[in-house]
Amino acid sequence: MTKLVKTKGASINATCIGCGCDDEHACCNHNLPCHWLVVDYDKQAGVCSECEEYVTLWDQGVREYKPDGRRGDILGDRHG
Ligand SMILES: [Zn+2]
Ligand SMILES: [Zn+2]
Repeated sequence: MTKLVKTKGASINATCIGCGCDDEHACCNHNLPCHWLVVDYDKQAGVCSECEEYVTLWDQGVREYKPDGRRGDILGDRHG
């Protein structure tokens, strides 16, 4: 007797690097749930339609939730 066990593709979520929403917790704006502009399920990260400016960071290789990673701020290294 053999059992087929799914080890891949089951319940993998991606998290938006801009706002932290994920597949099961989409953020809603104007009563519409967001969708992925870009998503990489291997990295479990993406950029949702509410965080369009984060696509710039995404293009730079950012694959983590960066709540403070607004465009421009993260690029420089200055404080204040
Ligand atoms: Zn987002
Ligand atoms: Zn969202």
